[in-house]
Formats: sequence, C-alpha cells, structure tokens
Amino acid sequence: MHVIEHKLDSLYEILEKKLKPQVKKIDGKSLYYKDIFKILGERGYFSSEGLSLSDVVQREVEVVKETSRFCMTTGFIIWCHLAALTYLRHSDNSFLRNNILPQLESGETIAGTGLSNPMKYYAGLEKLHLSARQVVGGYVVNGTLPSVSNLGDDHWFGVIAEVSDNQRVMLFIPCNAEGLSMKEKIDYMGINGSGTFACRFNEVFIPEEQVIAENADQFVKRIRPSFVVYQIPLGLGVIQSSLLSINKCKNRQNGCNEFLPIQGKDVEEKLSELGNRLKGAFATEVEANGTSVQGLGSPGLGDSFVAGEASVEVTDEASNVGTGEVTDEVSNVGSDEASFIREGTVSSKSFYSGEDAVSSPSNVELDWKEILAIRRDAATATHEAVHAAMLHGGGAAYLNNSEDGRRLREAYFLLNLTPTLKHLGKMLQS
Ligand SMILES: Cc1cc2nc3c(=O)[nH]c(=O)nc-3n(C[C@H](O)[C@H](O)[C@H](O)COP(=O)(O)OP(=O)(O)OC[C@H]3O[C@@H](n4cnc5c(N)ncnc54)[C@H](O)[C@@H]3O)c2cc1C
Repeated sequence: MHVIEHKLDSLYEILEKKLKPQVKKIDGKSLYYKDIFKILGERGYFSSEGLSLSDVVQREVEVVKETSRFCMTTGFIIWCHLAALTYLRHSDNSFLRNNILPQLESGETIAGTGLSNPMKYYAGLEKLHLSARQVVGGYVVNGTLPSVSNLGDDHWFGVIAEVSDNQRVMLFIPCNAEGLSMKEKIDYMGINGSGTFACRFNEVFIPEEQVIAENADQFVKRIRPSFVVYQIPLGLGVIQSSLLSINKCKNRQNGCNEFLPIQGKDVEEKLSELGNRLKGAFATEVEANGTSVQGLGSPGLGDSFVAGEASVEVTDEASNVGTGEVTDEVSNVGSDEASFIREGTVSSKSFYSGEDAVSSPSNVELDWKEILAIRRDAATATHEAVHAAMLHGGGAAYLNNSEDGRRLREAYFLLNLTPTLKHLGKMLQS
C-alpha cells in the first residue's frame, strides 16, 4: 500500500516534467504523445497485480484526472487505454489475460476502444457497423468504424460485431491485422493528438484466442460502468485547471470579474459536488455487495476525487492571465489523501489470483444510473467551467495558443464523446 501511495504522490511531478512540455505540440501540432504509456506503465500506474477491482479503478480515475489537469487529449488517450484494459481484465479468455493484459498494464503495448457504435446500438440509437461470420478457428469481420483513437501500427483495440440477430461477439483487434485499413483523422477543432483513425475491415480474420467474449450482450453490462466512470475525471481535471485560471485573474481591473455570471466559487462548488457524488457511487457499490465499507466511503477517498478545495493562490500577474497553467500551488491538492488505496476494500483478490475480483459482476455493479447522471453533470459542468475561464481570462484567453482556449475546444469533445449528452439523456430517461 505504501509503495502505491508514494507513486501517486509523485504522479503530479512526473506529469509536470514529462507531459507539460509537450502540451502545446499535442494541441497545436497534433503530436500523439504515446510515451505517456511507458512512462506511467513502468511506474506501475496501470498495474492491477495484487489489487481489487475497486482499488484499481479508483487509482486509475485519479490518473485520468491528474493528467487532464495538464491536457485533456492525453487524459483521453489514457481513457482509451483504460477502456481496453477493462475489457481484458473482465474477459474469460486466458490467452488475452495472461499474455496481452500484462503488456498493456506495463505500457509496453497500447490499446484503444471502438465501442461508441455498440454503446449506441445497445441504447437503440443506431445499427452495429461491424458484422462477423464464424469460420474454423475464429471470426471474419467486415464493416467500418468512423473514429477509433489511441491507435498505431502495433496497437490493439476492442470491437463488437454482429454474428446474427441473436449473437454479437466482442473481439480484440491488432492494428496490423490483414484486411484492416486505417486512415488518420487530424482535422478536428481539438483532440488531434489522440491517434484517431477511421478503420475499415475487409474480411479481417480474428482467431479464437482474440475473442474477448462470445456473448457481447452480457459482457457489455460488466464493463460499461468502468467505461463511463473513467470518463468522469476527464472533466474533473479540466474543471480544476479552469478554476485555477479563473482565480488567477480575480484581482485584475480592480476585481471587475466579480460581475461575471459564473464565479470561481460556483465552479469550486460544482467540482466538490461531483467529486463527492463519484465517491458516493463507489461507496454504494461496496455496501450493495455487502462487503466491507471500511475506507472506501471515508473522507480520504472523496477528497482525492474532489480536490475542489484547491487552495489556489490568487495572483495578479498579467503574464499568467489566461494561460491557466497548472502550477505548484495546486500540486499537492489531494495528494495527502492519495491514500485511497486502503485496507478493507471490496475484495482482497487480485485480477491475476482469482476469478472473484474479475468475473463476478457484483464487483462492478456501481449504481449505473447514478454513474450516468454524474457523467452527464460532469460534462455540462466542464463546459460551464471552461466557458467561465474564457470570460475571466479576457483578451489573453482569446489568443490562439491560450490554455483556456485549448480547454474550451477540448471540453466540447467530452460532450460529444459516447455516451454523448443526447445519448446520456436518453439512457437516463429509460
Ligand atoms: C476525435 C474523436 C475521437 C473519437 N474516438 C473514438 C474512439 O476512440 N472510439 C470510438 O468508438 N468512438 C470514437 N469517437 C466517436 C465518439 O465517441 C462519438 O460517437 C462521436 O463523436 C459522436 O457521436 P454521435 O452520436 O454524435 O454521432 P454523429 O457524429 O452524429 O454520427 C451519426 C452517425 O454517423 C456516423 N458517422 C459519423 N461520422 C462519420 C464518418 N466520418 N463516416 C461515416 N460515418 C460517420 C456515426 O458512426 C453515427 O452512426 C471519436 C470521435 C471523435 C470526434
């Protein structure tokens, strides 16, 4: 436990040293910063060995949030990797779990997810784009996915394809599979450093050992809570940096920003509320399972998610106005509470040591509706926070390379990332 706490304490320093110098290139020059996987993987930030599912998810939520404070594009590619990790962690396929999963957790191999279309299919929004035909030793896949991120020559990604009216199968696809053609997409208003490609499948053979689940309909129910939970900290990290940016401009022009409709305290309250609700969702899970609640619902966990009580020092330095840079002043926010990997958590069994932590759906039954509601509210709160930071930052924020401007462009993606705002609205209604 102490080793992990120490690693989390140093996460901010690693990101500041390695990621921060790359952010302008990631945004302005579409740099796909894949080094982040090796950097974090080698230090154990994706490792599940010896940990319960709940421990792992909560630590990884923190990794996405801290990363997104610097750069939501990089937070997003980490989300893609974590989604793929989730698929293998829950799969019964021993080849994938024993051979590929450790490589993903070490950051040696990188993966993404092509599940937007299936998620929309399961919510009744659209048809499945991929079809699969069973053949001797595996499946043959056809169809097109318009956007899959975090891809590269030797990367992998998860997909779902329709075999028949009654069966859909989930597969793990290597980007170098024969018959798969990929076209890079970098014409977006943001998130261009995300390694995003259109993927066309033309008679792509996928062997049995790369089948994540023969029954994708059932499997999806097990992985979707983590899929959505990992998206929430994309917003929390961006809100935290927007708050810092807002507070930095507080004393400019004799405090005239106080007449703006959204104030730092509003953003801070929202951040705090979302963090507490996310903490509550994990606590509910534990109680619902009837296992120990010790530690998980305690303040330490929530504080690390919340971080809304950022004791941001207000400066009047015009040079910083609008840059919204993450500074040392907030570097320790939540780090005292990094001890969210605590004793007495959901399950003491690890992903590697037993079926319990992985295959028992009960361990991933977070309150699904509440998770959806938090995800929706996080997206709208992020949008409000970046918008507010633009107004507080004034002319400097409107510069092409301003950090507030980057966050504004990136934040729109959170609204359009599956489940999109409209998709969330539909699911919350049903
Ligand atoms: C930068 C970026 C990265 C993304 N990364 C991923 C990813 O890693 N994995 C993933 O599964 N999804 C990814 N998506 C898709 C994303 O999650 C949403 O599904 C999408 O942004 C919006 O969905 P929508 O429901 O608004 O559909 P719309 O964008 O309104 O699309 C409606 C329909 O048109 C189809 N469509 C959209 N664009 C095209 C196109 N160019 N050619 C053919 N059909 C098209 C869609 O598949 C859908 O069926 C990415 C999108 C973007 C913009």
